[in-house]
Amino acid sequence: MAQLWTRRQVLAQMGMAAAAVHTLDPHELCCTVAAHAQTASKDLFELKKVADGVYGAIAATRYKVNCNAAVIMTDDGVIVVDSHSKPSASRAMYQQIQGIAKKPVIKVINTHFHWDHWQGNESYAASNPKLEIIASERTKENLTKPDAGVGGVPYIEKQIAALPGEMDKLKADIQKETDTTKKGNLESNLQQAESFLQELKSMKPTLPTRTVGTTLTLKEGGREIQLHVLGRGHTNGDLYTFLPKEKVIATGDALIDWMPFFNDGYPEDWVTTLGAVEKLEFTHIIPGHGEVVPKSHAAFFRGYIGDLIAAVKKASADGAALAEMQAKIGDQLAPKYEAAMSKYPLGRYRDRIGQNVEMVYKKVIQKA
Ligand SMILES: [Zn+2]
Ligand SMILES: [Zn+2]
Repeated sequence: MAQLWTRRQVLAQMGMAAAAVHTLDPHELCCTVAAHAQTASKDLFELKKVADGVYGAIAATRYKVNCNAAVIMTDDGVIVVDSHSKPSASRAMYQQIQGIAKKPVIKVINTHFHWDHWQGNESYAASNPKLEIIASERTKENLTKPDAGVGGVPYIEKQIAALPGEMDKLKADIQKETDTTKKGNLESNLQQAESFLQELKSMKPTLPTRTVGTTLTLKEGGREIQLHVLGRGHTNGDLYTFLPKEKVIATGDALIDWMPFFNDGYPEDWVTTLGAVEKLEFTHIIPGHGEVVPKSHAAFFRGYIGDLIAAVKKASADGAALAEMQAKIGDQLAPKYEAAMSKYPLGRYRDRIGQNVEMVYKKVIQKA
């Protein structure tokens, strides 16, 4: 009965705007994307079957981004990898899950500490008091560190502090805009920013209850789920969820179908770690952002990071200044990577290459 009550409560809460909202990462801001503050849950995520009882919940493009989730059905309940940027998004996800199986969510796995991957934890905890939230040891630490990067409990306050400025800019842009469609999109973005701010203010940060040092194997209602920490990459605590029988892996942002985000990352380690990931026997990747991709994408993505590091090292040895490097390397790597890294309105090659070069320069050459 408790489950029914919770579900009713969840549905009542769905009356709120279910807009998928996100980011203070300026490189992910995208004001040209058509976005709607009032969005049905099916427009937030599309559940795509990857194996029997295993789904990639692919997040729709919004002004404020949500991460993908992996949804794993077991006889005992549902396991969800990553919980998006806010409780209304994870409530929308929960509603969709209940549409395919009326079972409780028993475990949430957080792939890393970034805000768009864990800020929705609280709604799963509200739906099941026995919920377990699993993350790597490093991720659990990062979630309470004051300066871990773009995520964690202290980062909620930073988002609350930054949003009014972002909203002022949107208001100014709305005033200036003469094109009706673009104006409408900006107004919608402003609504999303406002509702996101309200959610942040009432957020109940819900932290991992169980941690993984290197490996943890869960035997869940007939399904084997391996959790692996394989080295530093996108962050120092990336956790991979691997289903050996179904040959599926959920990677968080350590492997995405966008350009990588390096700010809290370790470029050289990332290449090595992805090499270790590829040793696992999987055929499908549920990435942190973008569509479900085949295993071959791992080598492509690793190849990009490796080529980027090599290009930055070469340009630096040749005495190039950063601005020069950014322009030159952007063009140099474009034939191999631009088209495949620009499939979505967010995280595209030209949006991020300059930032990628700068981060690799700082982290690999300057060791900052
Ligand atoms: Zn992300
Ligand atoms: Zn991330």
